Amino acid sequence: MFILKGIEQLEKAIAKAKKVRPRVEFDHFGRYRVSGSKGYYTVICRKSDNGYKTVDCTCKGAEKGLVCYHAAAALSLHVGLARRQQQAA
Ligand SMILES: [Zn+2]
Repeated sequence: MFILKGIEQLEKAIAKAKKVRPRVEFDHFGRYRVSGSKGYYTVICRKSDNGYKTVDCTCKGAEKGLVCYHAAAALSLHVGLARRQQQAA
């Protein structure tokens, strides 16, 4: 898991996601399935009670606190959905 502080921290992961082009499947808002080298990983994006945005991925890299490209791919979908929700509210 890592805490999302800004887009800069995602730059490398986004670049990798653009190259790898993983499949991102929508499960429900904040929960996505992203294809990886060994099948699908689950990515969970949420906002903690103290306002931090946290991202969880079930891959090995994320376990060590790395920003993986699965998280970057899921986040790009999540951010778009969150924006749409805000506009609807
Ligand atoms: Zn991952």
